[in-house]
Amino acid sequence: MALSDMMRHWQSIKLQYEDCIIFYRLGDFYEMFFEDAQEASKILELTLTGRDCGLEERAPMCGVPYHAAENYIAKLVENGKKVAICEQLTEPTKGVKLVERDVIRVVTQGTLLNDGQIDEKSNNFLCSVFCDDKYCSISWCDITTGDFFVEDLSPYNENKLIDALVRVNPSQIIASTKIFKLSGNFSAVIHGVLPRFELYKDYAYSYNNAKNLLLNQFNVSSLNAFIPEENKGLVCVSGALIEYLNETQKQILKNIIKLNNFEGENCLKLDGSALNNLEILSSNRDRKSYGSLFWAIDNTKTSMGARYLKSQLVAPLKDLELIKYRQQGVKDLFDDTLTREGVIDLLRNVKDLERLIGKLTNNVASPRDLLSINETLLAVSPLKMLIVGHRSKALNDIYANLGDYEEICKILSSAISENPPINIKDCGFVKDGFDKNLDELRNLKSNGTKRIEEMELSEKEKTGIKTLKIKYNKVFGYFIEVSNSFKDQVPYNYVRKQTLTNGERFITEELKKFEEDVLTCNEKILAIETEIFKKIKNILLDNVSSLLKTAKCFAFLDFLLSLAIVAKKRAYVMPTMVEEDCELNIVGGRHPVVEAVSKQTFIPNDTSLDLNENRMMVITGPNMAGKSTYMRQVALIVILAQIGSFVPCKSAQIPIVDKIFTRVGASDYLIFDQSTFMVEMTEVAKILHNATKHSLLILDEVGRGTSTFDGLSIAWAVVEFLAKNIGAKTLFATHYHELSELEGIIFGVKNYKITVREINGSIVFLRKIMRGSANKSFGIEVASLAGVPENVTKRAKTILKKLEKKDLTIDFSKQTDLEAEEKTFSEVEKIISELNVNAISPLQAFEILIDLKGKLNG
Ligand code: ATP
Repeated sequence: MALSDMMRHWQSIKLQYEDCIIFYRLGDFYEMFFEDAQEASKILELTLTGRDCGLEERAPMCGVPYHAAENYIAKLVENGKKVAICEQLTEPTKGVKLVERDVIRVVTQGTLLNDGQIDEKSNNFLCSVFCDDKYCSISWCDITTGDFFVEDLSPYNENKLIDALVRVNPSQIIASTKIFKLSGNFSAVIHGVLPRFELYKDYAYSYNNAKNLLLNQFNVSSLNAFIPEENKGLVCVSGALIEYLNETQKQILKNIIKLNNFEGENCLKLDGSALNNLEILSSNRDRKSYGSLFWAIDNTKTSMGARYLKSQLVAPLKDLELIKYRQQGVKDLFDDTLTREGVIDLLRNVKDLERLIGKLTNNVASPRDLLSINETLLAVSPLKMLIVGHRSKALNDIYANLGDYEEICKILSSAISENPPINIKDCGFVKDGFDKNLDELRNLKSNGTKRIEEMELSEKEKTGIKTLKIKYNKVFGYFIEVSNSFKDQVPYNYVRKQTLTNGERFITEELKKFEEDVLTCNEKILAIETEIFKKIKNILLDNVSSLLKTAKCFAFLDFLLSLAIVAKKRAYVMPTMVEEDCELNIVGGRHPVVEAVSKQTFIPNDTSLDLNENRMMVITGPNMAGKSTYMRQVALIVILAQIGSFVPCKSAQIPIVDKIFTRVGASDYLIFDQSTFMVEMTEVAKILHNATKHSLLILDEVGRGTSTFDGLSIAWAVVEFLAKNIGAKTLFATHYHELSELEGIIFGVKNYKITVREINGSIVFLRKIMRGSANKSFGIEVASLAGVPENVTKRAKTILKKLEKKDLTIDFSKQTDLEAEEKTFSEVEKIISELNVNAISPLQAFEILIDLKGKLNG
């Protein structure tokens, strides 16, 4: 027995798309067969049935209705599968055994298109990674917006690559062989911070192939306008990405109109730990937006603006002029309430133009999307009126780059009805009056009976046959019936169809046409509407680069607006931005997130850091005093300042910072296969190797993960090294009060403390930073506040008193509090008393003796 023709065809498709689940269109369903069906039925919770396939046993099969396919596809993709959609390309016709079918699109995590499948406020990036002996580069693209980037990370360095990928946050990664093999050992991949790398064919990464694809994509003769053509890494990695897109989308995507060369050196570098520890886009607690810096300052009105804001927060600027350019834009909107409120109102009508264009180019746009495009473009002109004539170059540039869509809007407004259907097949998206033929057909459809009555009347008048009737039956369709008594008056254009005993039935050209019109009315309406849809789509696609430029203007304007709104709402001020060697000075600084979530009043604090005697703040203070909050607030203020935002404080002078490093507590995503202390030291090592004097360092409790003396020694040496050898602006919080001795010994180190007031054995947090070091940790008081039972805290106080009398010659790491010491003696006694001397060998006795001596000597 052999497979049936259709199954053989399915098999040939499966061979071409081995790693995909094939959605094979059969009438109103997408069916899956054999192993695909077995796998998908489990994931999608579908009943597994069978289908005759020519073999003895039926082929396992399951299916989903075509109109609900998107949800099922999304679920499969979410579960790490790829789906190849094999569509019916011809209508089933009599006599033709096999309908033509082929794959029209492969859906993967990085190429999802539909609303609801992707977060509207985030990009969905597909990333390509290339690496050889000389080059290392990454390229990333969001096909829904057309954003396409490439970054040179040569020569290969694992940390550098991972940091860049974490910043990009791709949902899918394809890679050339070498880096694919290495990626298996990346901790970030093993623990799901990054998706698993997928091997992509080496040919795609070959220089000539990659270059030709890029030239073809952008329709240019040289790539130099985008990237240096001789940089093999950049060309290969981005060309391979285009190859992958062409292969999966089965077309050249028209919304990818340029390749942006992302130069990391031009940005304030935030590595994975910094993004994580400073909770830039998501909070550490549940990885959700709430509690993050983005959440606190996001006042964007469009998804484009929100995505732009996010992209800036992970890669703030380093260029002083560019920062000032943005600041002026924010200032214009901050100062001018009328403009600001006007822009807010208009942006509310602006839809996600980038993704709407993406849907058009990817052939998944609906008539409703055209309405959204129209609503969006209608906002352009009034928006221009609002921002014209402002002082800042930023607003003037937006004004100049917003396109002119009067003509397009005219067409769209006259063509698209007010409530168009989502599916073009449901008809009715074109407005009455836009197309004469369409109007006639619609009239025909709704006024069919009336037309017949009119025709009957007019025929009666023309022929004088009073009994003439126009009738309809299923066999003959429409006909004119004339009784025998009027037979002689039948005009010559009547064609006889049927003779009855008492009359005759005729047809005329006009009636035939009417019949055809009525019977094929729906089909014709659909055809005309589809044609109109295509025409409008082509008009829009002809303007794709202008539309995408306008979309970027919306995003940028919304970004500036959002910064102006938050500045107004929370009383932020415009910082004075200065060259990197200048002093950082914040007066009355506040933490943007804590002040937004906390019900209590936030206590502002000052900060002063320079490249000289104030380069390092050693901060002590009780637990809960606010050390972490204070340090993070300085980092967040710098980040905000460098995206061009106003900042939460009374006044600030911010010098350009090149990198921010953080070493804060146990970072959760790196610790899986290393001890907490190992992670701590790895991060410290990274900072000591990479920080420069223009970096900002946030170091919280370095050395806490090991014994007191080890930790103190490490912390001491780190402070020394940073202050003497690097000179970076550093905030160093510690509970090692011994470190306060460094002020005066090492140039650049200054002691600070966060104050508390002690009242009746309890403490009140004042949250104010002051010069000088704290002399007490108040750990027990905080434990008490936290609800640790009173007998435990009382006992702790007694032990503390005894410890404080002692010299610091005890190694705290070896459980050497007083109680432990007491226990050690009784333990020795216990061991000796329990020992059966007769049952042990001399050698064992010798070992026990050594052990006991060790215990006694501590
Ligand atoms: P630990 O040493 O135990 O880590 P800490 O000194 O780092 O503590 P934080 O975690 O920064 O203390 O702050 C403790 C709490 O105090 C936080 O919940 C924060 O909301 C609040 N807080 C910190 N600083 C301020 C401030 N300036 N104004 C108001 N509340 C603050």
